[in-house]
Amino acid sequence: MNDIKNKIEELRKTLRYHSDRYYNDDAPEIEDYEYDMMMRELKAIEEQYPEYDSPDSPTKRVGGKADNTFESVVHTVRMESLQDAFSKEEILDFDKRVRDTVSNVHYVVEPKIDGLSVSLEYVNGVFSRGSTRGDGDTGEDVSGNLRVIRNIPLKLNEDIPFIEVRGEVYMPKKSFNRVVDRQLINGEKPFKNPRNAAAGSLRQKDSRVTASRGLDIFVFNVQQLEGRELSSHKESLDYLKELGFNTIPFYERVDTIEEAFRCVEEIGEKRGELEFDIDGAVIKVDDFDERELLGSTSKFPKWAVAFKYPPEEKQTELLDIEIAVGRTGVLTPTAVLAPVHLAGTTVSRATLHNQDFINEKGVNIGDIVTVRKAGDIIPEVLCVNEKRSVGNFVFPTVCPSCGEEAIREEGEAAIRCINPECPAQLLRNLIHFCSRDAMDIEGLGPSIIETFVDNGFIKKTSDIYHLDKNEIAKLEGFKETSANNIVTSVEKSKENDLAKLIFALGIRHIGEKAAKLLSDEFKTMDAVMNASVDDILNIEGFGLIMAEAVVEFFESESAKELISELEELGVNMNSKTVIKDNRFEGMTFVLTGTLENYKRSEASKIIEGYGGKTASSVSKKTTYVLSGESSGSKLDKANALGVPVISEAEFEEMIK
Ligand code: NAD
Repeated sequence: MNDIKNKIEELRKTLRYHSDRYYNDDAPEIEDYEYDMMMRELKAIEEQYPEYDSPDSPTKRVGGKADNTFESVVHTVRMESLQDAFSKEEILDFDKRVRDTVSNVHYVVEPKIDGLSVSLEYVNGVFSRGSTRGDGDTGEDVSGNLRVIRNIPLKLNEDIPFIEVRGEVYMPKKSFNRVVDRQLINGEKPFKNPRNAAAGSLRQKDSRVTASRGLDIFVFNVQQLEGRELSSHKESLDYLKELGFNTIPFYERVDTIEEAFRCVEEIGEKRGELEFDIDGAVIKVDDFDERELLGSTSKFPKWAVAFKYPPEEKQTELLDIEIAVGRTGVLTPTAVLAPVHLAGTTVSRATLHNQDFINEKGVNIGDIVTVRKAGDIIPEVLCVNEKRSVGNFVFPTVCPSCGEEAIREEGEAAIRCINPECPAQLLRNLIHFCSRDAMDIEGLGPSIIETFVDNGFIKKTSDIYHLDKNEIAKLEGFKETSANNIVTSVEKSKENDLAKLIFALGIRHIGEKAAKLLSDEFKTMDAVMNASVDDILNIEGFGLIMAEAVVEFFESESAKELISELEELGVNMNSKTVIKDNRFEGMTFVLTGTLENYKRSEASKIIEGYGGKTASSVSKKTTYVLSGESSGSKLDKANALGVPVISEAEFEEMIK
C-alpha cells in the first residue's frame, strides 16, 4: 500500500513541477501529451484508491496562479477548465453521461484555441477590466495589456449595462515566427510554442512589449450578463458577434454525438492550414438550462468535453543533415527528411539539437526515423526505426561557412565556430547590431544589410559608419531619399547610450538587461573593458558564466579593434543614465483605497522610480500601506500585522 501512496505522491509532485513551468514560467519542459498522460495515470490511481484522494491534488485543481506582478481579481463566475478525451469511445462515454441527465441534447462544436484564457468585463458597453484565469477563482488584472490587443473592442456596439465574456488570447503563427526570429537574433531563449509566447507576452509589465507581439483573441463564452436574456450557446455566440467581438471561428450546432464527432474530425483536418494553433475541438451542450442541470465538478463543467488531437508520428527517411552557423557561432544540425504529412502540415525538416542528441538517438544520414509534431511548431526526431547507415553522424571539425576550426568548449553541448570574421556570423551580428533594442538603426533591416554585405559595402561591423549615401543611391531599389534616411539614422545611432552599444556587441549571455546593468555600474566603455570577473560579479544579477563571457569577449583582439574603430568614428562610449534617487530601495508599498491626487498606477510608478516595489497584498514584509479614501480589508490586515499605514499627505512628504 505504501508503494501506491508513494507513486501518487511522486506523480503529484512531478505534475505540480511541470504545471509551474508551464503556467508560471511559460517555459514547459515536456510535451502537453506527456503531461496529459501523467495526469490520467494519477486520476486512474486516485479512482482506484479513493482513500488517498485529496482536494489538493492536481487532478482537482485548475492550473496556474496569480503572482504579485499584477493586482488580483476574484472571478465572480469561476473560470473552469475542460475535461479531456483522446478517443471516440471517450466522446461516446461523455454523451452517455450527458444523456443520463438530459435527453434530446444538441451540441455545439468549435475549435479549441491553444492560448490562454482571459475574462473581459464591460460596463455600459465600455471595457472596464480584463483578467487572466489564474487558478480559476483568482486571476491577475492585465487590463492595460489587453487594451493594446487590436481585436479587443474598447467599446461595444450596444451599451448593455454589464457583460463579462471569456475568450482565448493567442499568438497567430505569423507573429510567433516573427517573435522567435527576433529572439534568436538577440541571442535570447526563444518561446517554445505560440501558447507560451502568448502567455509570456500578456503578462508583461510594459504594455508596449505586449503591443509589439501581435496577439489576438477569440471570444467563446458569456460569463455574466445584465439587461438581456440568452438561452443557448449558439445564440450567445451570435450575440457576441453582434456586439463586435471576434468570436470563435467556425462553430456548428449539431443534433447527435456522431455529427459532433464528424465536426471534430473536420476541424482536425483543417488544423495545419489555420493561421493559429489549436490543440483540440470542444463539444458543448447548447442549451443553458440543460447545462445548469448537468453542473460542474471542482475543475470542469460536466456539459463540455475537449477532444485533444494526439501528437502525430510518422516514419520517414533522413536524407541529409545540414549544419547552420548561428550568430554566436553555434553549429546547429537540421535533419532533411523525405517529406511526410504530419498534423496537417508537410514536414521536411526536423531539429537534431546537437552532437549529444545525435549520439543518444544513434542517428545518421540514410536511416529511417520517426518524426513527431506535437504542440511545438518545430518537429523532432524521436528515434531510429531502421538503421541503414554505419555509426552516428559526426559533426564537422571545421565551420561550414568559413572553414576555420570549430570547437566544443568544456561543459558545453554546442560546437562553435570562434572565428569573429566568419561570414555567417557577420551577417547575423550586423542584423543584431542594427536591431531596435540594440543600436536601433532605422532602415537597416535584415534584407538591406544583406544587400550591403553582398555589394561589399559592409565587410565588418564598423563599416556601417562608413556607408556612403551616394553609393547606396546607385543600388537598384534605392533612391536619394531612402539612402539619405539610412545615413541619417546611422549618424543618429552614434548618440546612443552605452547600454545599447554593449547589447549590440552581441556578447554571449549578455542580453538587454545585463547590458544595462554593466553600463550603469561602469559608466564608460573603458571601464567595462577593464573590469575583472570579480568586479562584474559584484553586480547583482550577474553569475560567473556571464561575467566570464564579458571578460573573454573584451580580451579578444577583434573586439578591442572594433571598439577603437567605433570610438574614432564618434560612437558614444559613455553611460547617459542619470544618477538615480533610490530613496525607496528595499521598501515594499501596498496601495489601498482611492487617492486624491494620483491614480494607483501613477503612485506605483513614482514608488518604482525611487527604487521601491509595490505589492497587491499586505504581509509582514510590507514596509508601508498607502491608504486613500474608503480603503478596505488591506487596511485591517495592516493594522492586524502592525504594518505602518501612511496617508496620501505623508506619502507626498516622502517624495518631496
Ligand atoms: P485545457 O487547456 O486542456 O482546457 C481548458 C482551456 O481551454 C480553457 O481554459 C479555455 O480557455 C481553453 N479554450 C480554448 N478554446 C476554447 C473553446 N472554444 N471553448 C472553451 N474553452 C476553450 O486545460 P487547462 O487546465 O488550461 O490546461 C491543461 C493543458 O495544459 C493541457 O493540455 C496540458 O497538457 C497543458 N499543460 C502542459 C504542461 C507541460 O508541461 N507541457 C503543464 C501543465 C499543463
